[in-house]
Amino acid sequence: MLAELARMYVSYNFTPRADLLVIDDTLANLRLLVNLLRENGYKVRAVSNGYEALETIQKSPPDLILLDILMPDLSGYQVCQILKEDIITRDIPIIFLSALSDGLDKVKAFSVGGSDYITKPFQVEEVLARVKNQLTIQWHKKQLELEILEREQAQEALRLQYQREQALNRVIRAIRNSLEISTVFSTAVTEIGQLLQADWVAIVQYLSQSNSWQPVVEYSPNSDLAKLINNKLSNSSCLLTERLQLLQTFCVKDPETVIDPFNQDLIEQYSRIWLPIPVYSDGDAWGSLSIVRHYSIPWSETDVELAVVVTDQLAIAIEQSQLYQQLHQVNQELENLANLDGLTQVANRRRFDQVLEQEWLRLRREKLPLSLILADIDYFKLYNDTYGHLAGDDCLKQVARALHQTLKRPADLVARYGGEEFAVILPNTSLTGAIQVAETIRDSVYNLQLCHETSPGQGVITLSLGVSSLIPLEAEAPQILIKKADQALYQAKNKGKNIVCYF
Ligand code: GH3
Ligand code: MG
Ligand code: MG
Repeated sequence: MLAELARMYVSYNFTPRADLLVIDDTLANLRLLVNLLRENGYKVRAVSNGYEALETIQKSPPDLILLDILMPDLSGYQVCQILKEDIITRDIPIIFLSALSDGLDKVKAFSVGGSDYITKPFQVEEVLARVKNQLTIQWHKKQLELEILEREQAQEALRLQYQREQALNRVIRAIRNSLEISTVFSTAVTEIGQLLQADWVAIVQYLSQSNSWQPVVEYSPNSDLAKLINNKLSNSSCLLTERLQLLQTFCVKDPETVIDPFNQDLIEQYSRIWLPIPVYSDGDAWGSLSIVRHYSIPWSETDVELAVVVTDQLAIAIEQSQLYQQLHQVNQELENLANLDGLTQVANRRRFDQVLEQEWLRLRREKLPLSLILADIDYFKLYNDTYGHLAGDDCLKQVARALHQTLKRPADLVARYGGEEFAVILPNTSLTGAIQVAETIRDSVYNLQLCHETSPGQGVITLSLGVSSLIPLEAEAPQILIKKADQALYQAKNKGKNIVCYF
């Protein structure tokens, strides 16, 4: 459209030979006008009736029409009306020709869409002046249309640019605000999908171990596109992954001949224009952002640019999230170091103190019982002496595991209290319940049947256990619970070991 107008603009400006059509059934008039206009540099076509006129106009619309009103068959008014109803011819200016004696109806001439009229007999200067006048008006009209169109296009371009910037900002914001990489991914595919009118957008990760490509998130507003999300795209002999693997920005234009049925399906379903953009993380190929669009929307440079900018942001987000994960892992390890006993991997004394304090305060508020078991391995010094320190360590690990496996409630905690002594915190547990747990623990350690030849007791590793239980009181401290359990444990040792005593 713009090109068309530009061409017109050029023709009006630089070629003075406007194309005129004269329609008159009086041949003398026709000849007179044609000669006059040709002599003045116009290109002129001439016809002598309405039907012929419509035909020649249809074939090639002139720049201006001079139209006689009184004609047999179709009158000038009728011809004019027909031309004004057609979108292609309605803007051609029409000057009516009529003798005053024909009873010229000036109002009707304008109301059917005429631009001007000339009365016969013609005055040469008047004809030329009116023709030139109409052509000038027409030229200015076209100029104006061209300007309006250019302005509209500029506005549309601005609007698009604004939309793109907004979308980009949303993606960047999502990336900044979220450490959760899946949120970043889904925001990115949705925003870019909507903005670029995509049929399918996916972030596809390259898995080097299986040498395949896995879509991790996708946007597909068109239900006719089956989801690829659960498909791993094998790297070998796959058209798409071949493209993905090139790791450079490009469009996959047309589906090429493919060999296997999987690719055949893929191409049939996604036979549109693909734009895979590589995503690098830490200098390595991480995967791609793939955008699929219908053939009717070709990729412009700015589209590709936008997609590349989003991809760069994705790469930053991926690196950010990897760093975050590493940090999280290190923190987790530090926390474990701080809270777990290195040998037995149950809670350490530090953690025990924390939890006991915490539960004490909670159950004091709730006025519910808190129980504690202290368990000590019998004749463990002898065990070490007999089997060596390493075997002793191994025995401690097995006992710790047995204790841990005995506990059922998530709030229960087993800790290494020190040396060969373990402590079990049982919140919301009465003395009876705690004694039962202690008995189960004693049994389970006995059932391990860890041989202890030199033990004066059972010939296997056994535990002595002391149990205490109380509802925490304002005036007391958790140490009271430990003290009581310790006294009970002392009793158990005195009573011959491998038993449970309670305070
Ligand atoms: P009882 O039946 O009265 O409890 O006697 P016991 O020998 O078990 O108690 P005692 O307190 O005399 O000895 C505890 C032993 O536990 C001494 C120490 O070498 C051993 N022990 C403490 N911590 C560890 C450890 O981390 N590894 C090993 N192998 N032994 C440990
Ligand atoms: Mg002991
Ligand atoms: Mg001891």
